[in-house]
Amino acid sequence: MEAQTLPVAVIGAGPVGLAAAAHLIERGETPIVFEAGSAIGANIRNWGHVRMFSPWEFTVDGASVRLLEANGWQMPPLKELPTGHALVDRYLVPFSQLPAVRQHIHLNARVIAVSRRHIDKMKDSGRDDAPFVLHVMCDNQNEALIEARAVIDASGTWHQPNPLGSGGLPAIGEKRHAQHIYYGIPDILGKQRDRYASQRVLVVGSGHSAINALLELAQLKKVFADTSIIWAMRGTNMRQVYGGGEDDALPARGQLGGRIKAHVDAGDIQIVSPFRVREIAAAADGINVIGETPAGTTSVPVDEIIATTGARPDLDMLRELRLDLDPALESTRELGPMIDPNIHSCGTVRPHGEAELRQPEKDFYIVGMKSYGRAPTFLLATGYEQVRSVVAALVGDWEAAHDVQLNLPETGVCSTDLAGEGAACCGTTSSQPALLSVSAIPINGLKLQPSALEAALQPVGLQTATRACGCDDTCCSDGVKSTTCGCDSDCCS
Ligand SMILES: Cc1cc2nc3c(=O)[nH]c(=O)nc-3n(C[C@H](O)[C@H](O)[C@H](O)COP(=O)(O)OP(=O)(O)OC[C@H]3O[C@@H](n4cnc5c(N)ncnc54)[C@H](O)[C@@H]3O)c2cc1C
Repeated sequence: MEAQTLPVAVIGAGPVGLAAAAHLIERGETPIVFEAGSAIGANIRNWGHVRMFSPWEFTVDGASVRLLEANGWQMPPLKELPTGHALVDRYLVPFSQLPAVRQHIHLNARVIAVSRRHIDKMKDSGRDDAPFVLHVMCDNQNEALIEARAVIDASGTWHQPNPLGSGGLPAIGEKRHAQHIYYGIPDILGKQRDRYASQRVLVVGSGHSAINALLELAQLKKVFADTSIIWAMRGTNMRQVYGGGEDDALPARGQLGGRIKAHVDAGDIQIVSPFRVREIAAAADGINVIGETPAGTTSVPVDEIIATTGARPDLDMLRELRLDLDPALESTRELGPMIDPNIHSCGTVRPHGEAELRQPEKDFYIVGMKSYGRAPTFLLATGYEQVRSVVAALVGDWEAAHDVQLNLPETGVCSTDLAGEGAACCGTTSSQPALLSVSAIPINGLKLQPSALEAALQPVGLQTATRACGCDDTCCSDGVKSTTCGCDSDCCS
């Protein structure tokens, strides 16, 4: 019984952690929010100069807006696209400063570990009723043990970038040459302009972060024409990289691919693909990035590397808890088949809430970006619905917890429709994949022959879309992995 009077701990004051706090307050609960950064939305600040592809209407949470509007806040124009900084300045900070909210938020408070009072991971007896204990480091020096009746981990993944090495390990020399590497999306047109102007810059990765960095570099090149931009990625499927274009229900997201393709076609950006980074080595001038290509081991001489190779969740802090995670994605297990990029990249994730996020550790939930583990397709609208459902469950409102509603904008492309003409599993029409263009890049003083690589780079093998191989429309639009919805996986591979 005593545990019931304790607060609900929320780890992370990003958009999803703060939304959890809003739902808890609305339900008459007491949240206690720990934020590792010195300010609200610390991870978003790191990429704050980037314009989001979701308009305001998809980037705010219902409970947070209700509390804000009750205090005179005005919703920004619904269709406008905020930058990361705008999301923090115009929404997250005003929310965090509300009288009902600010007392519950602790900045410079990093959660190092979570356990149960006097109960380690092995012990069963009394486990479910014991309060949680959070080991918190405050101001980088003072440790505290804080008790809570439940824990919502919304600590994101952005601060835990993947290394450059193609197999998920750091490349040889990656640490030694760290001064040449930026993990994330640098402010190329702002604070970090001098770092990249007139330099040879290699961007590694193929997701939206890579495209955002490349677009800024292309802008920079307009002013500093001798800036050289090289784009390296493991895969060869440019149709997937460029995305769904006009088929994307979020136009700004769809346009990212088209904009970058125009720069590639114009020769502003040289692509080297497939390229699997193995080593970073010193060079007389800058560094050499050594990797595997179909033509053999090659070396790309550059001055700077921008690593946009994704991120992974911090699971160390959860080591004393009993978790059930997807073995590949490190996401909450139930979410794995819905978001696995090996299977699809549809925006249509099946509506999910407390039931799918539940862990063997009672009253502990991983939400937000971290609930997706290493998968990259998380959207804020997903996180807001997650925490609404989780909080409803924590207060015993099971009807609301189960009544999950989520309607996500489709990307217009997913890996199960990569080449099936007109048979897109996202419910959109697919077109032929673009052939990969490989530019002649001076490598080890030689020109890498485009023909050698292009010979090895076939357009993606024509797969049959799930719908064409016996999978019904409903399960495909739900975004459920083909093998779990009665589809013959062989015919899709
Ligand atoms: C460049 C970019 C653009 C994006 N654009 C969109 C978009 O247009 N639309 C959309 O829907 N989504 C977008 N996303 C995806 C997603 O919405 C964001 O990543 C969002 O920030 C995720 O929110 P979150 O609260 O889960 O995690 P975060 O925003 O990462 O917040 C986690 C917080 O936890 C804190 N923290 C971490 N570890 C600890 C700890 N141990 N103890 C205490 N605090 C800790 C961090 O400092 C951080 O403040 C974008 C992502 C990126 C990177």
